Amino acid sequence: MFFNGIRPKAEKCCGCEGCREICPKSAIKSTEDTDGFIIPEVNLDLCVECGLCEKVCPMSNADKITSSTEGTAYAAVNKNGTELSQSSSGGVFSLIADYVLNKGGFISGAAFDSTLNLCHIVTNHSDDMQNLRGSKYLQSRMENTYTDIKSILNTGKLVYFVGTGCQVAGLKLFLRKDYENLITSDILCHGVPPQSVFNEMIKAVESKYNGKIKKYSFRDKSVWGWSCSSSSSNIEIRSKLKYLGNEPLQQAYFNAFIKADNYRESCYVCPYAQSRRAGDITLGDFWGVEKYIPIKDIRKGVSAILVNTPKGHQLINKIKNNLNLFPASIRDIEHINRTLVEPTPRPAERELFFKKFKENPEMTLMTYYKPSMKRDFVYALKSNSVTAKMIILVKKVLKK
Ligand SMILES: Cc1cc2nc3c(=O)[nH]c(=O)nc-3n(C[C@H](O)[C@H](O)[C@H](O)COP(=O)(O)OP(=O)(O)OC[C@H]3O[C@@H](n4cnc5c(N)ncnc54)[C@H](O)[C@@H]3O)c2cc1C
Repeated sequence: MFFNGIRPKAEKCCGCEGCREICPKSAIKSTEDTDGFIIPEVNLDLCVECGLCEKVCPMSNADKITSSTEGTAYAAVNKNGTELSQSSSGGVFSLIADYVLNKGGFISGAAFDSTLNLCHIVTNHSDDMQNLRGSKYLQSRMENTYTDIKSILNTGKLVYFVGTGCQVAGLKLFLRKDYENLITSDILCHGVPPQSVFNEMIKAVESKYNGKIKKYSFRDKSVWGWSCSSSSSNIEIRSKLKYLGNEPLQQAYFNAFIKADNYRESCYVCPYAQSRRAGDITLGDFWGVEKYIPIKDIRKGVSAILVNTPKGHQLINKIKNNLNLFPASIRDIEHINRTLVEPTPRPAERELFFKKFKENPEMTLMTYYKPSMKRDFVYALKSNSVTAKMIILVKKVLKK
């Protein structure tokens, strides 16, 4: 049986919640596993073994979803400077979203609520764009997103859904038919930590400063630009908002994420970590772009995009006047973005991370993932960015 007892094995479930949403008997509920990841649990008394849960599972049906050939690759930069600054990469998501909103359509993507819980929302309000923009390095809850999207699609309105490869696949499998009015973007994703790890980091920062974090950015470009973007937050202390950039705990969370020590088990065997993709347009960062394409100014970000379907090509044609678009090669993008080739290898330290983190979150982050110049330098070298290397050098000199 698909559930192998009442829960699927950890590496067999990506936490998209599609099985819970589709179950005609409401026999499945979302629970948390011991590491804090969302995992479905079936009530065997209610289950009628109809098999729908298995049919909509992205981990079991990747071959039905991924494109049959590789897409067309581009480097892309949004010409609108404000949108570009607020986006994590080259701001392509915002341009597609603007287009869909202007057509009277809906956008669905990951946004923090007022208590910093990350959840997919479905909206047709441009005010929500601020919350939707930017990468959030933890898993977004789907809750009833797939059901809500299906209702809107059935009215004939346009919907643009953005998520990880498994979330895009989860939606498509849940819908169980093609909708002409659905556009999807999958993001290049190397894995997701659970909400609980993020919550503990936030708790530690709030207690350190005796305040309440109101806004969080994982990729703040305002100080060091795109290639050296860092985590920042706005914290309310005695009714005053204070900007926390380069905060050690926030940086340590990011370091743990980059080291891949706290991902879902399914991320290390992700069937969507390959060059044949789940969405109409794939969105990512074009790390090392300056080696391949002579773009004048890359300081505010450059997207790597893959256009995977005829629908994706039509869309790019519609928005291309607002984009600086440069033909590229997937081989150049995958040089650093290994998620286009294979899933992130499971580090030996993963067990240790969750064991130690449960004992003492702050100590774990600050002992094993403490920000250091050396770590920054290795990251800069990996990202292969000349700007990044120069900034690290300047930081080093200034510190002396
Ligand atoms: C967990 C994660 C891992 C990533 N790993 C890589 C990588 O290895 N290589 C790479 O090149 N790019 C990676 N990215 C993608 C990259 O950071 C940008 O999100 C992407 O390039 C889109 O950037 P943009 O400038 O077009 O728009 P942005 O405005 O930055 O777009 C953000 C979009 O991503 C969605 N989103 C944000 N966080 C999440 C989330 N947790 N789950 C689902 N959807 C989310 C938002 O809904 C929004 O639609 C990752 C993103 C995430 C969230």
